[in-house]
Amino acid sequence: MTEYSFVQCKTALSLSKLPGLKYTLNPYVGCEHGCLYCYSPAVMRNAEMAEKWGKLVRAKDNIVDVLKEEVKKKRRGTVGVSTISDPYQPLEKQLELTLRCIGLLSANGFDVSIHTKSDLVLRDSFLINPPGFDVGVTITTADEYLAGKLEPKASKPDARASVLENFSTKKVETWIFFGPIIPEITDSEENIIKVVRMADRSKSRIIYDKLNLREGVLERMKPMLELEKPGLTKRMPDLARAKSRWWRRTVSKIESACKTFNVKCEPAFPEMNFA
Ligand code: SF4
Repeated sequence: MTEYSFVQCKTALSLSKLPGLKYTLNPYVGCEHGCLYCYSPAVMRNAEMAEKWGKLVRAKDNIVDVLKEEVKKKRRGTVGVSTISDPYQPLEKQLELTLRCIGLLSANGFDVSIHTKSDLVLRDSFLINPPGFDVGVTITTADEYLAGKLEPKASKPDARASVLENFSTKKVETWIFFGPIIPEITDSEENIIKVVRMADRSKSRIIYDKLNLREGVLERMKPMLELEKPGLTKRMPDLARAKSRWWRRTVSKIESACKTFNVKCEPAFPEMNFA
């Protein structure tokens, strides 16, 4: 059972160091999607959140009012919605905080970059139009069984692909965050080709990234990894380290598949690109 509560926030827009984003906006603290590989709890440094990741969500009750004041004063720029929680996690269906925030941002001349794993974003399609908006979805695997294990409450991979096709038809810029790519779990040639084909069908570019073993991630993934591949947990830190042979080979496979299908792709962190 997920525990919901409300909190008051002091700011809505936070300055961002992420590429292409001037600000980030997170209407929720915590994320019910509860992805095993998520390293948001490590970024947040909140012990309770980390311990109950996926089971504890706090909605920023006053975020729309705070944002109303901020859009009057802050310099225009692109706002990433969201970066440490999913803006279209289940609670958004009732609360519509994301809906109201992106409406406000758009009406006040801010560009909005949406990143989600939920097809609930289609609800707001009436508002999400070019130019001003881009929409990205994370796809770790095209395999429903694996996605169900890794991202228990997110929309199924095909539903996420439909989100991209839908927005692409409206000429909204779309992208796939292909990651985290997990050694020996989601790195097969077959999976790479399927994800690249999803990008091809929806005219999306791909941003790819490997598993990031921030604090707590391996521990959360361990039961799943051991079920799928006994012994993999032990080898994981070496496989998933920056510039490992595994990552070098995987980057090369992705870049080559993207070339074949004429899909634009780029690493999330260019310093780890070996191609
Ligand atoms: S959807 Fe994103 S923020 Fe939410 S649990 Fe998954 S990886 Fe973390």
